[in-house]
Amino acid sequence: MSNQTYLQNRILETDVCIIGAGPAGLFSVFECGMLKMSCHVIDALDAIGGQLSALYPEKPIYDIPGFPKVLAADLVRDLEAQVAPFDPVYHLNQQVVTLVEYQDNRWLVETSKGTRLNSGAVIIAAGVGAFGPNRPPLEGIEAFEGQGAGVGVHYLVKRREDFQGKKVVIAGGGDSAVDWALSLVDIAESLSIVHRRPKFRAAPDSADKLHKLADDGTIDLVIPFQLAGLDGEDGKLSAVIVADLDGNERTLEADVLLPFFGLSQNIGPIADWDLNLDHNYITVAQETMATDKLGIFGIGDIITYPGKLKLIVNGFAEAATAAHSARAHLHPGEEWHFEYSTTKGIP
Ligand SMILES: Cc1cc2nc3c(=O)[nH]c(=O)nc-3n(C[C@H](O)[C@H](O)[C@H](O)COP(=O)(O)OP(=O)(O)OC[C@H]3O[C@@H](n4cnc5c(N)ncnc54)[C@H](O)[C@@H]3O)c2cc1C
Repeated sequence: MSNQTYLQNRILETDVCIIGAGPAGLFSVFECGMLKMSCHVIDALDAIGGQLSALYPEKPIYDIPGFPKVLAADLVRDLEAQVAPFDPVYHLNQQVVTLVEYQDNRWLVETSKGTRLNSGAVIIAAGVGAFGPNRPPLEGIEAFEGQGAGVGVHYLVKRREDFQGKKVVIAGGGDSAVDWALSLVDIAESLSIVHRRPKFRAAPDSADKLHKLADDGTIDLVIPFQLAGLDGEDGKLSAVIVADLDGNERTLEADVLLPFFGLSQNIGPIADWDLNLDHNYITVAQETMATDKLGIFGIGDIITYPGKLKLIVNGFAEAATAAHSARAHLHPGEEWHFEYSTTKGIP
């Protein structure tokens, strides 16, 4: 048996299995660690950080207590450093597909890559579930995807610098399209923004800035136009073809196309785990974060309770509550002396 097959067949054991490595899941590693529970963290994406890494790594966040302003990517980096002393084991690039009861009141989780984990408690921090971009229905678009940083078709911007000196075409009319246009205009060789309506749905301030840049010729505002096709050879994009409502076409020279048509969200396999759901959100008891299944807790954007706010700061507080509940579940009847981090320190 190969090493990899052996690892895949072996059932790993941990105190707590955390599903989702977004901010809520990451911070729950810290809170569990402070309560002396080991954690494995699983995420469908190939990087930790959830929405912060996948959707807005370069955006500043202003409502994290104690940080007047922090870039999303920097917050993820610091969360990773904060939980590192507790030695979490990450299993990335794999989706949890099954969650079933196991022996002795424990739970068994299995991922799309065959990783199996036996844990005493599970914290579901799955955010909006499995999420992916809405792709424009353009013939042959797949050939231009995954062609490397700053070229071809990308649905996310990971590093702004990748677009330095590139001919960039952005499609979409919402905040992401407008914000990235304003951000990339300084470094791109040329920038066009294609939207099928004359009016943008972005913050009015940002839309005004965009129109000003178009007026002085810095940005090519291609409205009202829709994407109609892609030109290029061997996966190398050379132009984006757009058409207006009367079918008049324009060809925009392009190294890269960034379509921002929102996200398709799907709670995916979670819907099959027999948990109490309310409109695709897991219902939990607010005082414990417990779901209706003993030993399974929920935190962050995936849950609902009366007054739930989908904010990072709420996810952090829910992580602390869930960790304390998980500890009580794993050590029933045991007295636990509560200590602050200032008293206890970290390993
Ligand atoms: C553009 C934008 C700006 C925002 N700005 C702010 C802001 O300024 N302040 C603020 O407080 N909030 C902001 N938010 C909201 C904030 O990002 C979310 O509240 C936060 O990310 C929720 O964290 P989470 O850990 O619950 O989930 P997520 O960040 O969504 O992470 C969940 C993770 O779970 C994984 N997952 C899901 N299902 C599975 C599965 N079955 N198996 C394995 N992995 C799975 C996903 O891949 C994902 O990585 C913003 C959101 C967006 C989109």
